[in-house]
Amino acid sequence: MSHPVPVLTIDGPSGAGKGTVSRIVAGRLGWHYLDSGALYRAVGVAASWADLDLADPSALVRCTFDTRIEFQDGPEGLRVLVNGTDATSELRLETAGAVASAIAAIPEVREALKERQRAFRQPPGLVADGRDMGTVIFPDATAKVFLTASADERAQRRYKQLKEKGVSVTLDGLLREILARDARDAQRTVAPLKPAEDAVLIDTTGLGIDEVVERVLAQVPKHA
Ligand code: C5P
Repeated sequence: MSHPVPVLTIDGPSGAGKGTVSRIVAGRLGWHYLDSGALYRAVGVAASWADLDLADPSALVRCTFDTRIEFQDGPEGLRVLVNGTDATSELRLETAGAVASAIAAIPEVREALKERQRAFRQPPGLVADGRDMGTVIFPDATAKVFLTASADERAQRRYKQLKEKGVSVTLDGLLREILARDARDAQRTVAPLKPAEDAVLIDTTGLGIDEVVERVLAQVPKHA
């Protein structure tokens, strides 16, 4: 029996444009949006605030259970509150991504976030963005997409985004960080980054956002 609430999963490596595309697609469908990476980032930020040792899995698992994470819609987009404090800007930093990727390799942390992620599946539907949305969290999703782009293009996009925000970075440094994060996400033993067998692969290299949005929307059945 199929689940009554439809889900579109959008997985892929960092910088493939998942966040932007997912938000637009969710808006077009009038569905909810889950930014699962923000949950891992939020736990990472909470762990850094508490000065936890990233090599101590049991402390990180406790932190995962204890961290309150709230999403609030605001005029400038989604804001993320971590234990009541607005951490939106801090969560976007590459360092937060690196910490998230380190703690995301701990199986118990992933397990602790499972139900929180599934709770986002609310009518009329959900667009879920991440690494294992189609493989682990919503294996019965209505439609599954895996977005990719060359590492060079992903580094260029991140570079532009961060420059616009006034963050000082080098293209070379970003490329190295992206490749390191890809390798860690793809090689971990639990929920490694890989397309679900029934996912549609979309290579976004050289494509504009509008084109990608249309290709993704084309995967959603009309009466989902
Ligand atoms: O998508 P984002 O870059 O915000 O994710 C940060 C990190 O969180 C990823 O590099 C990955 O290690 C982890 N993550 C994950 N599973 C998800 C979403 C994110 O392991 N569903």
